[in-house]
Amino acid sequence: LHLDQHLAPGQPLPLTRDQAHYLFGVMRLAEGARVLVFNGRDGEWLAEVTGTGKRGGELTCRERTRPVRMPPDLWLVFAPIKKARTDFIVEKATELGAARILPVQTDFTNAERIRQDRLQAHAVEAAEQCGGTYVPEVEDLQPLSRLLAGWNPARRILWCDESRVGAPAALHGAEPGPWAILIGPEGGFSPAEQARLRALPFVLPVSLGPRILRADTAAVAALTLWQATLGD
Ligand code: SAM
Repeated sequence: LHLDQHLAPGQPLPLTRDQAHYLFGVMRLAEGARVLVFNGRDGEWLAEVTGTGKRGGELTCRERTRPVRMPPDLWLVFAPIKKARTDFIVEKATELGAARILPVQTDFTNAERIRQDRLQAHAVEAAEQCGGTYVPEVEDLQPLSRLLAGWNPARRILWCDESRVGAPAALHGAEPGPWAILIGPEGGFSPAEQARLRALPFVLPVSLGPRILRADTAAVAALTLWQATLGD
């Protein structure tokens, strides 16, 4: 269970209505039951149900079962597509160990805005589901041009570029360190964006194979490729 509170031995953990509904209504837990909790910062902890109620209740934090496991320093930058597919990207990026998720507006992106809070909640659910102790931060939508203008060149960008068909996935031999994967929208990047990306020295274009993948497939493929070669 993901909680926002600080976790420490003996710490009381009041539950929200939704959490109480889940634990006592759905999972049918009673006083004395044990629950694994995490907040993304303090690792995983064993907590005990010390108060139940329809609208609330309380856990008491007991002992730490696992330290927080930070993911490798990998960001996912992507142009949001249809709602369900954007949800999918956030869920899979969390499972595949992205440390930060940055939706961007590009020349061919349709989305004017996103529900950042909903996407963040998806990341929390995905982290809960896959037993992670870390939840990546999902940023609000921002223009790709602004993001690139303030980019720290120490973080390299793996640009998934479908026009490089035939080029090998150039990740072997790439140096470890901070990286970001960049995935375009359904219409791809505009010629102006492609020219800008080509001119940036910290951008490494990569092919994900000869087929044009949907953006959500490309995100999963690129995250897997990066984790397999540079991840832990
Ligand atoms: N511009 C393309 C078109 O309409 O022909 C389609 C773009 S594709 C659906 C969406 C994004 O997925 C691309 O911008 C790219 O980042 C990534 N992508 C898809 N297939 C890829 C491939 N074979 N290699 C590298 N990136 C790929």
